[in-house]
Formats: sequence, C-alpha cells, structure tokens
Amino acid sequence: MITLKGIPAAPGVAMGNALFLDDSEELLVPKRTIMEEQIPGEVLRLEEALIKTRHQILDIQKRLSDDLGQEHAEIFNAHILVLEDQSLREEVINGLKTQRLNVEVIFNDIVRRHLKAFSRTEDEYLRERTADINDVRKRVLRNLLGKHTDLLRELREPVIIVARDLSPSETAQMHKQKILAFITDVGGRTSHTAIMAKSLEIPAVVGLVSATQRIRKGNFVIVDGTRGEVIVDPDPPSVTRYEVEQRRQHELSRQLLQLKDLAAETLDHHSVRLMANIELPGEVPSVIAHGANGVGLFRTEFLYLNRADFPTEEEQYEAYRAVAEQVKPHAVIIRTMDLGGDKFLSPLQLPAEMNPFMGWRAIRFSLARPDIFRIQLRAVLRASVHGHLKLMYPMITGLEELRRANEIFREVRQELTTEGVPIAEKVEVGAMIEVPSAAMTCDLLAKEVSFFSIGTNDLIQYALAVDRVNEKIAYLYEPTHPAILRLVKQIIDVGHAANIEVGMCGEMAGEPPLALLLLGMGLDEFSTSPVQVPLVKRVIRAVEYSFAKSVVEQVLTLRTSKEVEGFLLASLKQVAPDLVET
Ligand code: PEP
Ligand code: MG
Repeated sequence: MITLKGIPAAPGVAMGNALFLDDSEELLVPKRTIMEEQIPGEVLRLEEALIKTRHQILDIQKRLSDDLGQEHAEIFNAHILVLEDQSLREEVINGLKTQRLNVEVIFNDIVRRHLKAFSRTEDEYLRERTADINDVRKRVLRNLLGKHTDLLRELREPVIIVARDLSPSETAQMHKQKILAFITDVGGRTSHTAIMAKSLEIPAVVGLVSATQRIRKGNFVIVDGTRGEVIVDPDPPSVTRYEVEQRRQHELSRQLLQLKDLAAETLDHHSVRLMANIELPGEVPSVIAHGANGVGLFRTEFLYLNRADFPTEEEQYEAYRAVAEQVKPHAVIIRTMDLGGDKFLSPLQLPAEMNPFMGWRAIRFSLARPDIFRIQLRAVLRASVHGHLKLMYPMITGLEELRRANEIFREVRQELTTEGVPIAEKVEVGAMIEVPSAAMTCDLLAKEVSFFSIGTNDLIQYALAVDRVNEKIAYLYEPTHPAILRLVKQIIDVGHAANIEVGMCGEMAGEPPLALLLLGMGLDEFSTSPVQVPLVKRVIRAVEYSFAKSVVEQVLTLRTSKEVEGFLLASLKQVAPDLVET
C-alpha cells in the first residue's frame, strides 16, 4: 500500500480499478487533405509536437532518476533517439508533399511501416525497440491531436482514470457513471480540468507528479478528492476507513441539501445572492438541485470545444434560451467566450503560445475576431426575452477594452432592433475583475458597467505570478495571501462606492472559511460550483453579519497567508464545526 499526496481538485471519495489512460489508448487519427500552402504549417505542427514530446520524456527521465536512480531513467534513451531522428522528419516532409494529407496521418503511417519492418527483423536489438518506438508514436500523436477522448467515450465499466494530464475539453466528456474519479500528474486546484470535475461531481486529485509511474493498470485505488490523497493497493483497514468516510460525506451532503429552499441570509437577516457556475446547459438541473438562485457564471467557451466548426448563432441562441428558461425568474450571467489559456479552440488549430494564460485569450480574442464575437452577442440578446439574462466580459484589463466591447454590444443591439428582432428591454452588462490592472482601476470601470464579478481564479494567478495549472508552484497559489485580500476588499469597496453590485465567481467564493470572510467584506453575490453552494449557504446561515465583519477586521491585521488561514478556520469552527475537518 502506498499513499500519494496531490492537490484536491474535486471533493468526494471513490474506490475502483485504475485505468492507465496513456498506456492503453489507441488513437483514432482523422484524415484531412491539405493544400500546398498548408505544408509549412503542418511541418511546424510536427516540430512542435516532437519538441513537446521530448520535453515530456526528459521530464519523466528526470523524475525516474530522482526517485529510482539513473539506470531506470535510461530506458527512455531510445525514445529520445527516435524523436531526434532527422531521416524520420525528412520522410514525413516528403510524405506531406506527395500525399497532401494532414501530418498526423503521414507521421502515423510512416512510423507504423517502420514498426512492421522492425518486428520482422532478425536483429534482436531492433525488435526490442518496437515497443519504445510505438510509445513515441502514440505520445507524438497525442500531442498532435491533444486528445484522450476516444477511450473516454468507449469505457465499458466504471474505472478510475489515471493520466499525466487531461484537458478541460476531455474532462467535459466524462460520464459520472463510467468514471468514478480521476487523478493526474499535473494541474492545479483552479485549472479548468479541476473545475469541470467539480461540476460533474467526479472526485479528482491533480498535481500528483508521479501517479502514472507509481500506479499500474488494474491496481485498486482509493481517491480522496477532498484531502487530495490517493491510496494504491490499500490494506483492508484503509478500505473500511474510507467506506466510513464515504458514508459520512454522503450524510453531510444529504443534510446540506435540506437547506436547498432556505434563503442565503445571516442570523440577523443580511442576505446575499447565492448562485452557481456552469460550463454547459446540461448542468442546470444540478444548479437547481443544489438550491442556487441562478447562474452567476456560464462559461460559454465550452460550447466552442470538442467540435470541428464554430457554434452557429442559432445553436447558441438555443443553448442560452434553454438555460434562461430553466433558471428564471433568477438571473443567468452569460460570460462571453473565454477561449485560450487552457481552453483551446478546436476549429482554429491555433499554434501553441509560450504563455497562453497571458496570451491571445478571452476578450482579446473576441475583440480581434468581431465576426465571431458578434454572433455570440446576437444569440445572447435574442435569448434575453426568455428569462433574465445578464452579460459579462472576461479578462478586461482596462477602460479602452471595456469601451470597445460595449461599443460592439451597442451596435449589435441596434442591428437587431433595426431587423425587428425582439430583445429584452434591459440586459445588464458587467465586467469580470480578474486582472490586477482592472482591480487597480476599477473605479474607472465601475462608471461604465452595471456590476462586477471578481474572477479570483485568474486574479490570484496574475497578482501572485503563480500559474494556476502548474503543480510545482501550487503551494504559492494562496487565496489568503494578504495581497489578494486587499485587492478583493478594494474591488468590493470601490464597487459599492460607485453604487454597483459586486459578485465573485472564482472558486474562492465556494470555500467555506473564505466565504465567511467574503460575507464580512460585503460581497453581494457568491457564485461557485453547484456542489459548493449548500456549503456556502450553511456558513452564511450560521453567523451574524456583525461576526463576519469582525472576522474581516481581524484578518486585515494579519501578515501571512498561514496566519489568515488558521484564523479563518478557527472562526468557522466556532459557527459551523461540522464543516471543519479535525
Ligand atoms: C476566474 O478566473 O476566477 C473565473 C471565474 O473564470 P475562469 O475560471 O473560467 O478563468
Ligand atoms: Mg478567469
């Protein structure tokens, strides 16, 4: 039995057999014809995939050598030789020129041909290398395709998925019945993969660093997504302990769900709006089941993932309309597409960026592609007559950007009115405050929007310079850092001074100790993963508003994240001891 420690990504306990995703997968390689002028682009894609694969293998070698010694790491030397093989590159380039097919197909065919020849040869050394070459083939293809999806779709029995990495779009295709839990070597607490797992209510642990090396296919594992632990080959007492824990958690969720129809208000009747975040329309029943009063963040970019074309105006209209109708009379805040970062747009096949979270992302992409942006705005406005829709822009960095977005919004509105298309009389427009420059200038932004929604998942990564998906520095990703607390308080105070409401849709709003603090800071609206909603409600209903305010006063005198964390847990324990682990 071994225990691996990682980062808790989605709560819950699951037990089952491990399916080692990277090992067992056979990929489907889609075929496309290409034009002559596309050849350099395909060569570039191959180069990028080879470089990425090389980095991944060097990384594995380094970890193996640290954990088990240099000789174990050397088994990957043959992989590196294949990746550096110049003649293979030339063969692929020739293939591209003569066959005019996408690079995945050409690369796959060539390597398979070599594999066939090697497996028939008398040379024992070459024969032994076929497994290595085949592994390289799959790794390169996976980097070219960026997918584990075929396997995920075809699972026959419930398993625990083990993978080096999973993209948000892959996670979005997981089914709760088939996937008991998943664990990955990389990733952080607020990666979109982790967020998606919470939405799907699939327990998950990420950032385990070496899970793919320490676990074998078929191993029985326990995943504790609440504590961020994975137990491989547990002994019988551990299994019993976790079965008890599983029952305890189910009982707590059952009790919390009884708060479903009660108001999110303090003992002395200060009320807040408690909403939920969704990625896809199919999550609305979960929003309702958990007692949220509306959708505080609809991550519409998920409508653009896992497909070969863009969603049409009609498709988007239907999606927004469906959500608006189910959630009314409560509001739905539609965030315009936040593509980029860790959510890559399938139809455009964009080249990889060095710093995708700081790159061509979110509102920057929308403003650069007004053709695509307008289609989304038209769909939102058309759906606005079917419920209470609000709109907000992601990743605003300053006033000019906000003005440009608002200008396009006004034009689209005018266009629809001229066409005689019915739209709601009023659609409030807000800005996400998730970049430090927006936080510092929120007094200026407040004059030109109807509300703010603080996106702490990004605000923390930008303010603390901590990549939200990098497990190596996850210990620095601290919502309780005094810098973050000051920023959040400032945004709330400035918003209120300008008479606009301030909400939060980052994961911070769903953590019980932090919810207590945010309540005291005067946050008007909390929006979090549906599963966290009852927890936040429990906190709010357990305290006097004055108690929460006094917590804020004392927290602001503390100097380190750890002090803040300790104080908040102690304060929460006073009012809701069942929510604090001992
Ligand atoms: C955030 O950044 O806090 C947020 C809610 O948006 P996302 O997690 O989609 O980046
Ligand atoms: Mg964000």
